[in-house]
Amino acid sequence: MTRDEARARDAADPLREFRDRFALPEGVIYLDGNSLGPLPRATAPAIADAVARQWGDRLIRSWNEGWIDAPTRIGDKIAPLIGARAGEVIACDSTSVNLFKLIVAALRVDPARTVIVSESGNFPTDLHIAEGAIGCVPGATLRAVPRDALADAIDDRTALLLLTHVHYKTAERFDMAAWTRRAHAAGALTLWDLSHSAGAVPVDLGGANADLAVGCGYKYLNGGPGAPAYLYVADRLQARMTNPLSGWMGHAAPFGFADAYAPAPGIRRWLTGTPPVLGMAALEIGVDLMRAADPAALAAKSASLFDAMHAIGSTLGLECVSPVDPAARGSHISFRHPHAYALCQALIAEGVIGDFRDPDILRLGLTPLYLRYQDILDAGATLAVILAEERYRRPEFSKRHAVT
Ligand SMILES: *Cc1c(COP(=O)(O)O)cnc(C)c1O
Repeated sequence: MTRDEARARDAADPLREFRDRFALPEGVIYLDGNSLGPLPRATAPAIADAVARQWGDRLIRSWNEGWIDAPTRIGDKIAPLIGARAGEVIACDSTSVNLFKLIVAALRVDPARTVIVSESGNFPTDLHIAEGAIGCVPGATLRAVPRDALADAIDDRTALLLLTHVHYKTAERFDMAAWTRRAHAAGALTLWDLSHSAGAVPVDLGGANADLAVGCGYKYLNGGPGAPAYLYVADRLQARMTNPLSGWMGHAAPFGFADAYAPAPGIRRWLTGTPPVLGMAALEIGVDLMRAADPAALAAKSASLFDAMHAIGSTLGLECVSPVDPAARGSHISFRHPHAYALCQALIAEGVIGDFRDPDILRLGLTPLYLRYQDILDAGATLAVILAEERYRRPEFSKRHAVT
């Protein structure tokens, strides 16, 4: 891709207007929107309004002026982004907590099924939470196996197939419909972690007949650091599954103040405590922004940004560990390099922000909503200089930070 080609592609990009809706800092090429999405321009005013007017002025009346409904309202807004229907999604808690609620609930559906099957090397919290969840359900076990052993691991003891749709390290993407069919054929439920998918690659929970899902609010959805997450329960399962974290906000009548728990009839039963209103306000801005984008354009641009970066990586002799088939990958590209950590730090020092994943992965997020082809070209040029000069050997770049 030449400079002129990059410019022409940016000019023809159907998503080009979205870049201006973000407050991206000058002099930075941000290739980490898959880890922390950037700040939408509309977020600060929305937070200011939530603080000064809604909280400061309206005080407790605000609960009835939009606060109490935020989890279901935002859930309904997320639904079309992931192929779900209104009433199947709720914004709440963190992805980790939502995993816990759904895993325990899935283990309780059929006591004869006691095994959770997942992938070794899955995102750590998914496996950690599964480990914690089996400790809460007598007889339950976790079987985490490599991807190529998954199919054989699913059997009539499997309660749940727990998979992350797009792998956080390699960007490998599971065929959601095919794996859901496989799980269903064995009588098991599926739980998909969409943290690295929603907002970047097509997700069709309904079309795949998926049962359960969770996802993150602060990555591609740009909901802000520690934004509330979301969870999905297919309509057909809602009456059969209950929330093990049975808090009052998931009660059928929270303000009836009864002693005994009675779950709310619909998706609201997955709430636990009081929603974090300020976080919800920021999440809603990010979700509204994503809803304004054409999903087909997002998918197409994600694929072609990847191709552009992949070509640059090939020219530089970098080993790409992400699948080249667009249907088999997410929206980031990962290169293996023996000095990946220092390479990443050297890039950051030049304003190209990607990240490092232990032990040897340089991960570059290619978020289609606000990145330009020119950014890919510029990032590639910086990468070329750093590699040519072997700048990753400089001692200042090997100092480890707490968050990598
Ligand atoms: C980012 C991410 C999470 C985040 O979980 P938190 O509870 O928000 O810390 C979970 N799962 C996957 C696959 C992720 O990529």
